[in-house]
Amino acid sequence: MSAETELVGLIGHPVEHSLSPVMHNAAFEEKGLDYVYLAFDVPPDSLKEAVLGARALGIVGLNVTIPHKVAVMDLCDELDRDAELIGAVNTLRFSEGSIEGYNTDGEGFLRALREEAGFEPKGAKCVVLGAGGAARAVVFKLGDEGASEIVIANRTPEKAVKLAEEVSERLGVEAKGTGLDKETLEEELRDADLLVDATPVGMYPNVDEPPLVTADMMHPDLIVNDLVYNPPKTRLLEEAEKAGATPVSGVGMLVHQGALAFEIWTGEEAPVDVMRRAVLEALGRDRC
Ligand code: NAP
Repeated sequence: MSAETELVGLIGHPVEHSLSPVMHNAAFEEKGLDYVYLAFDVPPDSLKEAVLGARALGIVGLNVTIPHKVAVMDLCDELDRDAELIGAVNTLRFSEGSIEGYNTDGEGFLRALREEAGFEPKGAKCVVLGAGGAARAVVFKLGDEGASEIVIANRTPEKAVKLAEEVSERLGVEAKGTGLDKETLEEELRDADLLVDATPVGMYPNVDEPPLVTADMMHPDLIVNDLVYNPPKTRLLEEAEKAGATPVSGVGMLVHQGALAFEIWTGEEAPVDVMRRAVLEALGRDRC
């Protein structure tokens, strides 16, 4: 590090378990870039001060995580199309006095599915479990890329219904919201192409929690993407293997949303394989 080192980082609350510092610092080292990535715990009432302070300090950009992804939009001078569409920002870039807001979650999700399962959303029926922030990015991205039907199933069904109405009004895609009961999920999954679990079920330390969908409800042509990345192989993905379906771990989305942010900040192609290896090593070392 020197007086010329560029700084990027993460703001969220809490941030101490984030894998982003390990992932991005491995990428900077691989590319020989004089950058460093740090994590900053910023409580909600300090968000504005933190963002304006980061800009004043000449920080290149920031990732933004829970609980700031929506509130930070008010501080942005410009939003990219995905941030505007999804209604949340996960990446900031400070440039020429302006604060640019991006959302790389939806594109990161899709890149991982394309890379690991050859999935194309156009004409696909997609079932998404959960109706929180991650589900929102997934559902808007799938709708925007031409999915033919989206079913959102959530523990609190009203939230699923509301999200389905929003995506359907905004993008004209056929979408419906429902609860998590087994019969409904079984019926919807029969002709589905993609199942995405956007809930924390099965996430460390609750790795033995029963998955919301089991092998008997899946078919071999189904792609099953668990957004949980810790552990990389969840019980849901084990069920997918049992059914002969295609399992996709949440590690891919984590890596690709980070790679897109890296490219926004540095203008250079991200070393995706190095970033993935750094995440998997950290997960193996610290968490599972
Ligand atoms: P969130 O906004 O808090 O939403 C959580 C959702 O999960 C809600 O719909 C909630 O239902 C549901 N849920 C929570 N506990 C549940 C349970 N025990 N049974 C059934 N449903 C439950 O969280 P989020 O930001 O969307 O994150 C969701 C998951 O995605 C987390 O595991 C997170 O780690 C993962 N994620 C991964 C990536 C990645 O890069 N791979 C990126 C973002 C998020 P209610 O509405 O009923 O509360």
